[in-house]
Amino acid sequence: MRSLVTGGAGFIGSHMVDLLLAEGHEVVVLDNLSTGHLGNLSHLENNSNFNFHEVDVRSSEEIKPYFEGVDWVFHFAALADIVPSIQRPLGYIRAGADATVSVLEASRLSGVGRFVYAASSSCYGIPDLYPTPESAEIRPQYPYALAKNMGEQCVMHWARIYNLPSVSLRLFNVYGPRARTTGTYGAVFGVFLAQKLAGQPFTVVGDGTQTRDFTYVSDVVKAFFDAAYASVSSEIMNVGSSQTYSINRLVELLEGDITYVPKRPGEPDCTFADISKIKKLLDWSAKVSFEEGVSLMIENIDYWRDAPVWDPSSIEDATKEWFEYLG
Ligand code: UDP
Repeated sequence: MRSLVTGGAGFIGSHMVDLLLAEGHEVVVLDNLSTGHLGNLSHLENNSNFNFHEVDVRSSEEIKPYFEGVDWVFHFAALADIVPSIQRPLGYIRAGADATVSVLEASRLSGVGRFVYAASSSCYGIPDLYPTPESAEIRPQYPYALAKNMGEQCVMHWARIYNLPSVSLRLFNVYGPRARTTGTYGAVFGVFLAQKLAGQPFTVVGDGTQTRDFTYVSDVVKAFFDAAYASVSSEIMNVGSSQTYSINRLVELLEGDITYVPKRPGEPDCTFADISKIKKLLDWSAKVSFEEGVSLMIENIDYWRDAPVWDPSSIEDATKEWFEYLG
């Protein structure tokens, strides 16, 4: 079996590559290294089943040759984070829509057997219903969420019009080793672990009672594998732990002092996946408990040694546009 992973040098993509190689696949990675790191793949340097190409997936012509003989495609390449998406919407929409169409076209023209897309639960915005099912209204709150959702719509369109066997997985708060540290103020784990290493207090947003469906990365990539392996197509499925944990609980597990920063506009008080659909269609559910996942993060804390250490004042500067446009 030959699989192709776009964004394979990124956080979730690199874990996908590890799983596919462990399953005996030959793996082709396409990544322009704009936010991914080769360091996430350095342990694979001498693996003869692993092929890396530094290329921008928006260029359909350029990427086409790499799809020859590929059975499964996993499309992770995208731009992450809310703040830069508010500052530079054009780049985000191009990475979400144009790049996805380019990868879909290359897949279609090469007769790829399965296409799995990394969508985001941010499409639900602030939902009416918890746990949130796939049928909830689409309410993107910022360009990142819109871009990811546009990509998903393209995937479903290619599945319908061109019969490309495709599945879209809506991910809820994925965390794990190699969680991105691009320097941008972003996902809570990177922020807190760098603070812990520096002996600085955790910058808890609001009163910390808000909750997230934190999902461990090994469970997430297993869902992608199962989605490719299955025969279901044109389906959108939530991928979450189907539990929800408060930021205060996370702080309790990480152990350290707290400082408070203002609640951010447009942010839900809870994310919580209804996973009945993926349970039914793929027999998938998350296996790693939150407590176990957090202790694995602490074991790998050295990864965040060079990450920026945020404090209330630098967070206020970094989130200026967020409060300005969404407030
Ligand atoms: N959060 C926090 N302090 C931070 C960054 C995030 O308390 O410095 C909280 C934030 O309010 C949210 C949760 O952590 O409830 C997850 O935030 P993240 O940005 O990782 O994901 P998202 O908000 O997109 O779910």
